[in-house]
Amino acid sequence: MLYSILVETYKELEKTTKRLEKTYLISELLKKTSTEDLETVTLLVQGNIFPTYDQREIGIASRLILKALSQTSGIEQKHVENSWASIGDLGEVAEELIKKKKQATLHSENLTIKKVMTNLRKLADLTGAGTVERKLQLIRELLSSAKPAEARYIIRTLIGDLRIGAAEGTIRDAIAWAFFPPVGSIFFECPNCKSWMPKIKKCLNCGKDMNLKSGPKTRGRKILEIKETEEIEKKNIQNYDLIQAKDETEARKTYNHLLDIIQRAINLSNDMGVTALTAKTKGIKGLLNISLTTGIPLKVMLYQKAKDLEDAFKTVGKPAQLEYKYDGFRIQIHKNKEIKLFTRRLEDVTKQFPDIVNIVKDHVKAKKYILDGEVIGIDPKTKKWLPFQNISQRIKRKYDIKEITKDVPVMLNVFDAIMINGKNLINEPFKKRRTSLEKAVRPSANKLAVAKALVTDDEQEAEAFYKEALEKGNEGVMVKNLDGIYKPGSRVGYGVKVKPTMETLDLVIIGADWGTGKRAKWLSSFTIACQKGDRFVEMGKVGTGIKEKGDGVSFAQLTELLKPLIEKQKGRAVTVKPKIVIEVDYEEIQKSPTYSSGYALRFPRVVKLREDKPADEADSIDKIHRLYDQQRGR
Ligand code: AMP
Repeated sequence: MLYSILVETYKELEKTTKRLEKTYLISELLKKTSTEDLETVTLLVQGNIFPTYDQREIGIASRLILKALSQTSGIEQKHVENSWASIGDLGEVAEELIKKKKQATLHSENLTIKKVMTNLRKLADLTGAGTVERKLQLIRELLSSAKPAEARYIIRTLIGDLRIGAAEGTIRDAIAWAFFPPVGSIFFECPNCKSWMPKIKKCLNCGKDMNLKSGPKTRGRKILEIKETEEIEKKNIQNYDLIQAKDETEARKTYNHLLDIIQRAINLSNDMGVTALTAKTKGIKGLLNISLTTGIPLKVMLYQKAKDLEDAFKTVGKPAQLEYKYDGFRIQIHKNKEIKLFTRRLEDVTKQFPDIVNIVKDHVKAKKYILDGEVIGIDPKTKKWLPFQNISQRIKRKYDIKEITKDVPVMLNVFDAIMINGKNLINEPFKKRRTSLEKAVRPSANKLAVAKALVTDDEQEAEAFYKEALEKGNEGVMVKNLDGIYKPGSRVGYGVKVKPTMETLDLVIIGADWGTGKRAKWLSSFTIACQKGDRFVEMGKVGTGIKEKGDGVSFAQLTELLKPLIEKQKGRAVTVKPKIVIEVDYEEIQKSPTYSSGYALRFPRVVKLREDKPADEADSIDKIHRLYDQQRGR
């Protein structure tokens, strides 16, 4: 298939913000894609080169792209850089340059999907010194055959910023629309061109009014349902098939069920391409046959936030299991022939944690298993637990691993079992999974523990446990439903977290960066500072909590306020007079050598503008010292 076909869809997707329209466009693309190209197209339409579980990255610096653009177009690199500074989007820069070049030289080969993917993957596989020239050659090869719009999307894919807004959920729906017979009340026939459309005013094919008033009953296509809608995993999957549904309610239920089945396949395989291909070639049965595989990480279950313990019990029910919320990082442990460790973002960190691998080898008694847990740091002298910040360096560490395991020792707290001795436990209630987990591991001080837990329906007992958790240096507690199943990738209410809320801070903006892409005309990342005597000292940057449009603090508003205060500009960064105060929310105050205050905020978020507050009334470093000391029973 030609790359230009995918580019046509990219362009259409960029024109709309409506999810239904996007879904329709992608489903049409998937329908016309050959079976051979389907995996590749499904990944590329999301801007991905590999499935989610595969951590290879292209890792190309903007600098190298500028060079490749200059070499392909014959335009001096300085000019290319200038147009990047003014346009702010490398993809658009590429499009402009190729347009100019194409007027001069007209011959070129047509790019295929396969060629683009091959070169992109080769780029990801080239690492280390001496590969720069080869990388340049691979990019040049694509650009020299690319039409202007193709260049735009090749570059955006290269830098991992496709910006067409095709999220995972949209692609999941598109897979349903493309490969399963349309469901009544979800699809409607255009009275003019007879194409089948989602519920939409104007037909996406001919542009005429869909005139939906006549209602789905008369105009909906065949209504279908999936037999055996409950308990998919437990029943004999041979029974599943699409049959005629009785009415519209059934049809809607079926549609949602179909989406669940596709989402389940995505969560277990972490591969959109394989999911689309299976849907097309093997149907529902094939999707249901996608199962847990040791060695391939599945998405972790996520937890909602509760205001306090009362709220937590309300969500998960009574009695519930409370557990320490350890302040480390999530780890998914797989063992088949070998042991593999994955982070919450599904990165393979086995090499970085030989100590955890050994602990698991010695203390987990099961054969083939998948466990879920949290790695925490231990002070080598006092054996006290350390905050996450102290061990974060170990996650990315590539060298001197042996030394760092001694300097920064860690331990493992397991809290869930997903598979034990080859048995998939995903649909077992939490209390059963916990029992299996306890049976499978042999705890050992400072090496491995099963998360400290309390099962209770008594709020006072729960409060005491929460207090104890904080005193021990934990972030808070998790409160879990005893009957909840393990739902990969979902923030379902089977468990909630309860953490102390932090007092917000009023901080001064002292600098900012101009945005890129569609934010190029705005300042988009803001350096925040507190007062120290008569100076302002930095506490990091914030870009979250600010809106592109709608209510609340907007980028446009902040840009307007700060523009007259700009003192200096270097590249895309500016310093501004300290005048504007914003209220900032955050999860935690951390020590930081990077910023002049000595502190940084974890997950800062702008709450509101404090136009009423002058800069000299912003919060002081003394308050930060105090709040830092009060955190978690320190
Ligand atoms: P948050 O990162 O604030 O969404 O909180 C959820 C995270 O807390 C999980 O992803 C785990 O990394 C971590 N965590 C620590 N202790 C536990 C526990 N006992 N059960 C579940 N998650 C835990």
